[in-house]
Amino acid sequence: MTEFLIATNNAGKVKEFERILTPLGIAAVTAKSKGADLGDVEETGTTFAENAKIKAKAAFEKTGMPSIADDSGLSVDALGGEPGVYSARYAGENATDAEKIAKLLKNMDNVPEKDRTAQFHCAICCIIDEKTIVEVEETCSGIIANEPKGNAGFGYDPVFLAEDGRSFGELSADEKDAVSHRGKALRSLYAALRDIL
Ligand code: IMP
Repeated sequence: MTEFLIATNNAGKVKEFERILTPLGIAAVTAKSKGADLGDVEETGTTFAENAKIKAKAAFEKTGMPSIADDSGLSVDALGGEPGVYSARYAGENATDAEKIAKLLKNMDNVPEKDRTAQFHCAICCIIDEKTIVEVEETCSGIIANEPKGNAGFGYDPVFLAEDGRSFGELSADEKDAVSHRGKALRSLYAALRDIL
């Protein structure tokens, strides 16, 4: 079975990639399981797509294996696109999700309902060989709530309101998958790989 390296330390992401790669006859493996150490790759890009490519390239160059990496985050219109590519580090390197949410809500204190629009982004880069690179990016739109709701998901989910007014923190995993930036990007990647392989 062909193996694709998933360049992440996040076990949840590996599972998500596994779900779409297995039907294509591809095994999702981690660097660790291959005895490789990807180290800390500096995300110096200014866009999600650039950062996904930096991470995929680093993994491909280190291992020579087909490699996949993703980069995601939240862009809030009233904050000029912040926290954007800094979503994970918005409240400092080791801040908790609750601290990130608290900072976001504080920075949006005076922003009225109609201007609280935001988008989650997910960019995925898959390098199959030197000449074959697949890049996909998807977004999903929502509204930033005035206070957190629900305990499901992670990151900014409790303050991101979906179309029906529930927060992503109140959705089941399947409900979030159906509308989320990552769910859409994984489906786009599946379609692109199915055409190529
Ligand atoms: P990365 O893609 O692992 O670099 O993570 C980016 C950051 O964006 C995460 O740490 C979260 O704070 C945020 N983020 C990305 N996707 C989601 C999501 O689906 N829900 C909530 N927060 C997210």
